[in-house]
Amino acid sequence: MSIRKDIETVLSNAEKLNPQLNSFLSVESEHALARADYLESVDGLLLKGLAIAVKDNICTKGLRTSCGSRILHNYRAQFDATAVKRLNAAGAVVVGKTNMDEFAMGSSNESSAFGPVMNPWDPSRVPGGSSGGSAAAVASGVVRVALGSETGGSVRQPASFCGIVGLKPTYGRISRYGLVAFASSLDNIGVFGQNAADIAKVLGAIAGRDQFDSTSADVPVPDYSSFLDADIAGKTVGVPRQLIGEGVDDEVKQAILRSIENFRALGANIVDIELPYARYGIAVYYIIATAEASSNLARFDGVRYGFRAEDVEELRQMYFKTREEGFGAEVKRRIMLGTYVLSSGYYDAYYAKAQKVRTLVKRDYIEAFRHCDVILTPTSPSVAFKLGEKSSDPLAMYLNDIYTVSANLAGIPGISVPCGLSAEGLPIGFQLVGNFWSEGTLLNLAHKYETEHPLEARPSIFVE
Ligand code: GLN
Repeated sequence: MSIRKDIETVLSNAEKLNPQLNSFLSVESEHALARADYLESVDGLLLKGLAIAVKDNICTKGLRTSCGSRILHNYRAQFDATAVKRLNAAGAVVVGKTNMDEFAMGSSNESSAFGPVMNPWDPSRVPGGSSGGSAAAVASGVVRVALGSETGGSVRQPASFCGIVGLKPTYGRISRYGLVAFASSLDNIGVFGQNAADIAKVLGAIAGRDQFDSTSADVPVPDYSSFLDADIAGKTVGVPRQLIGEGVDDEVKQAILRSIENFRALGANIVDIELPYARYGIAVYYIIATAEASSNLARFDGVRYGFRAEDVEELRQMYFKTREEGFGAEVKRRIMLGTYVLSSGYYDAYYAKAQKVRTLVKRDYIEAFRHCDVILTPTSPSVAFKLGEKSSDPLAMYLNDIYTVSANLAGIPGISVPCGLSAEGLPIGFQLVGNFWSEGTLLNLAHKYETEHPLEARPSIFVE
C-alpha cells in the first residue's frame, strides 16, 4: 500500500474516533499528507511512513502546540523539538497533536482546557495522565506509536491504564529541546507503543546528545532492537515486597504477583530488595516539581506567547488577568505551592530538604541495583478510575503516582507493560525500572513478557 493510503487511513480513523475519545487536539491532515507524498520518493529511511501522534507540549513547527492550556490555545511553534526533527529525518509522519493535562500536570487527563480524554477500554473512565491523549491514540489502534512526556509518571501510568507499553528513558537520553518545560530536572520525553519492538525503533531514532539541550547526555545510542530477543535467563528481578502491600487494589496486587512468577518461569532470578526512602517520593516530588513549575511557567505572561487578556489598563493588570484567565485550577495550585516552597522563609524547610531526600531516594536505587538488574512493582495502585472520581481531591490524585515518581527523582528509566485484566476487563500494568542507560534491558524483558503473555482482549473502542 502507498504511504499516502496508509496515512489517509490513520487520519480518517483519528477523526472518526475523536468524538468518542477526544484524544487528539488537532488532526494535521494537510501536513501529514504532504509529508506522505514527499516520502514516497525517498528511500532507506528507518521509520519511513510510520504515523506518529505527538503530545501537545512537544513543539511541532507551524502546528498548534497548546500544552492543553487556554493560555497557549492559539500558539503555533516556530520550530520542531529535536525529537520531532529526528523522527521526521527518519521518515515518520506526525499525524496529530494529542490531548493532555494542562502543562502535563495531572494523572487523569481531566485538567486539559479542552475536555477530558476517554479510556478506549471503557469511556466512562480516565485514560490516565498526563499523556492520556497519546495513550488513548495508541490503545485505540489509530497509531502504533506516540510521543508523550514524563515528569512523574505521565507515560507509564496512562500506558498501564490503557493496556499498552510506555517507556520513560534515562534523564538526558532524549533531548528536551522543544518540550515545553514543566519541571526541568524531572522532565523527559517518553514513547508509547502497542509493543516494545516499535518503541525500540523509535527510541533509537530520537535518542542521543543534542547541542540544543545541555542536559542531553553524550552516551552512545545502541541498536535497541538488537536487545529484544536476548535470553532473560540469568537476569535478576528485584521485588520491593513492602511496597506491594497497603494501598494497592487486590486485583492489581494479584496480577503483579502472577507476573513475578511468570518472570521466574521465563528463567529470571527473583530477589527481595528494599527501597526505604520510596515512601517519601510523593512528598519530595510535589515540592520539587511545583517549585520548578512555578519558575518555568513565569514565562507565560501575555507578552511572549499565546493568549493575552483584553480590557486592561496597565501592564501589571495585563499579567494578572492573562494568567488568571489563561491557566486552569490545577496549574494555579501548582504555581502557588511552588512559589510557597521557594519563598525565603520556607526554602530551607521545604525545597532544600526535598533536594536532600531526593538524593537518598536515588541512593536507594544505586544500592538496589547492586543486587538486581531491574525492579518490578505495579505501575499504578489501581486500574483506570471513573471520570470525576478523584478530580475534586488533589491528594488522592497525587497518590496515583506513588510507584512512578521515584524513577524521575532518580533519573533512571522505567517501562510499563500490560500484565492482565481486572474482573471488569480493565488493563493492569507492571512497571520495571532499571539502572541508568538500561533501556535495552527494559525493552528486552518487556518484549519477552508480552510475547509469552499477551493481553487476551482489546479495548471496546478500537480500529483495525
Ligand atoms: N501526575 C504527575 C503530576 O501531576 C506526573 C505528571 C507528569 O509526569 N507530567 O505531576
